[in-house]
Amino acid sequence: MTFQKITMKDGELVVPDFPIIPFISGDGIGPEIWTQAQAIFNRAVEVAYGDSRAIQWQEVFAGEKAFQQTGEWLPEKTLATIREYLVAIKGPLTTPIGGGIRSLNVALRQQLDLYACVRPVRYFEGTPSPMKHPERTNMVVFRENTEDIYAGIEFVSGSQQVHELIEFLQENLQVTSIRFPQTSAIGVKPVSVEGTKRLVRSAFNYAIQQHRKTVTLVHKGNIMKFTEGGFKKWGYEVANEEFAEQTFTWTTYEQIKTEKGEEAANQALVAAKEAGKIIVKDCIADIFLEELIARPEDHEIVATLNLNGDYISDALAATVGGVGISPGANINYQTGHAIFEATHGTAPKFAGKNMVNPCSVLLSGALLFRYLGWAEVADAIEAAIEAAIASQKVTFDFARLLPGATEVSLSEFSQQIFDGL
Ligand code: NAD
Repeated sequence: MTFQKITMKDGELVVPDFPIIPFISGDGIGPEIWTQAQAIFNRAVEVAYGDSRAIQWQEVFAGEKAFQQTGEWLPEKTLATIREYLVAIKGPLTTPIGGGIRSLNVALRQQLDLYACVRPVRYFEGTPSPMKHPERTNMVVFRENTEDIYAGIEFVSGSQQVHELIEFLQENLQVTSIRFPQTSAIGVKPVSVEGTKRLVRSAFNYAIQQHRKTVTLVHKGNIMKFTEGGFKKWGYEVANEEFAEQTFTWTTYEQIKTEKGEEAANQALVAAKEAGKIIVKDCIADIFLEELIARPEDHEIVATLNLNGDYISDALAATVGGVGISPGANINYQTGHAIFEATHGTAPKFAGKNMVNPCSVLLSGALLFRYLGWAEVADAIEAAIEAAIASQKVTFDFARLLPGATEVSLSEFSQQIFDGL
């Protein structure tokens, strides 16, 4: 067998039966989790496809390991390899203190323009949760990854730059609302039509592929009319202009209501649901945080800007067992580039102790296999994780929250999953 690159052709991912996939094992607890995960991934592929498919995992370096070997935290060679092979998976990386890189994860996302941060959040039976009915949550968050206040355009209080900027705002743009102009720091929030539309488009495509019923545009457009409000407006435009056949939007509902009355609008909504159309709605971010707790079943796919998405994905993860078991992916659906990653950090105090929970990396792997179109592998990994958690023989983080559960090591817990495939 010859291992080959994954490529993009006419906007579609072309996945050979024997693909090469780069991985970064990560710092702290990363390497010990990766060792277990790689064995589970290989076994899941073998169980699903026998010897007709397999993966060659190719190690690339970033973080402490890279720094020790090359003096660089994110070597150009690593970026070049991921650029070439399109799809990669990574463990957590230490954020270097000083040295010009704010965060390796942010650098990777920016360099490869991975504009969609995709975080599925669902409940696995038996996981400790603060909710009475965590099983009602089954959402996928599409967080815009390249714009918003995260663009890093910030000027420190007292600097020459901030004084010039404040003066420009006051004199040229007649801004009068900067309460303390002498000492304000200023951040800039860019939100564009293209940035919004490519993210929202990805969310719709995903909803269609996965047969989901709703897409919610979450924004703070009641206050930030042009940035967050723009996101909402352009999001609805994508639905109405590019997905008119597959969606029914609240803007259409409102239009029918104005022209023909509420009853007609309700009838159109019912007809759209019966026809299997995706209902596209929007929700103000603060209300959404309430709804994700009070009525999580009302939302399936969530599309939102960078900062909202950051808060929402962690709050959602907490309802089903925390960031320790939630997976994530950063994807550019146009170029095909994608990095799948654990959402937790390096947990240095547990490194090398064979104690931690491997589920976040394992579920990120399941997400990777789904992205490749190898759904059988993803399903098998998720089912084996579910069975391992249900057995209540779990790692310390879950065991301490589950009365009667037995604490097992990382390798014992992973073995259960391996055996359950
Ligand atoms: P952390 O996620 O490492 O730890 C937060 C808490 O969760 C700790 O109590 C830790 O012990 C626990 N924890 C984390 N992963 C766990 C697992 N798999 N099983 C059981 N318990 C787990 O966050 P932190 O302490 O804020 O950050 C430590 C380092 O990781 C920093 O250098 C930070 O920059 C980095 N970090 C990296 C990523 C990433 O690479 N994606 C994300 C967050 C933090």
